[in-house]
Amino acid sequence: MGLRLAIAIALFMQICAQSVHSFFMIKISDIIECMQEMAPEELAEPWDNCGLLVASENESAERVIVCLDVTRAVVDEAIKSGAQLIVAHHPLIFTPIKRIDMGSVQGALLLSLIRNNIALYAAHTNVDKTYGGLNDLLAGLVGLDVPPPPPDEHAPLDYYRIGEFQSAMSAEAFNERVRSRLKLGSLIVSAPNGDPGGAQNGQMDTGGRAKTIKKVVVMCGSYSLEAEKFATTGADALLCGEIRHHEALELAGMGVHIIQAGHHGTERFFISLVEKWIADRYPEAAIQGVGFSSPPTTFYHGGGGLNDV
Ligand SMILES: [Zn+2]
Repeated sequence: MGLRLAIAIALFMQICAQSVHSFFMIKISDIIECMQEMAPEELAEPWDNCGLLVASENESAERVIVCLDVTRAVVDEAIKSGAQLIVAHHPLIFTPIKRIDMGSVQGALLLSLIRNNIALYAAHTNVDKTYGGLNDLLAGLVGLDVPPPPPDEHAPLDYYRIGEFQSAMSAEAFNERVRSRLKLGSLIVSAPNGDPGGAQNGQMDTGGRAKTIKKVVVMCGSYSLEAEKFATTGADALLCGEIRHHEALELAGMGVHIIQAGHHGTERFFISLVEKWIADRYPEAAIQGVGFSSPPTTFYHGGGGLNDV
């Protein structure tokens, strides 16, 4: 075989291999399409900032990292593993920024992403709201039945769910069910008398109310609902990530039992949920969840022992 012919064949084979690779290559646009199908960006709250926040020159997304927050550990892992895309729940860019400042945590993370050609996609309130999203998953994990959304696909979806247990249970049983099903060491729960601040010197004053739980409002992450709106749900309890002190007082005053399972504790399931969405569609993709078991804050109990909330 002549040298020219051999070179021509080698070049032809290389071109073929490249085009086959690019034909089967999973692209960033494919992952975004998958996310858009499972949790359309249009569902996001108007104040939110979802979508492709950092673009890159990479087209390929064969290695994807899924996380709750874009932290230094997440970005370092993406660099180390050669990931081309990070899919995060909380948007790294939330309020408008005027400059990328190396001296700020956010600026340094953004620069690391840009320098290493790593794209960043955020899917936030759209994942909380979508049918089969984070709130549905959370309700399902603790065994609540949630009615399917109305058949009108244009009906707005709420960023919380109202679910019911098949039979009522005590507040204590509810606490333990949530703690064990969410695999947490601790929860912050309503005071035993259901009225925080009412107990004197450790005495419980049940006021004759034997609280049982059947109907529950589920809201992952930060609780934000008007008390009047909550009252219309007729729920016995609230399961949320975190709630502000005064909102907790108001709901408790209405006789609502409250469980705070932590922002990370309720939203870390974003990682397993999105991993599944992508893996179901692209089984050949290398998807890595980061940060599932590492909450940014935890309880300190005197005498040692840390728990996950
Ligand atoms: Zn959140």
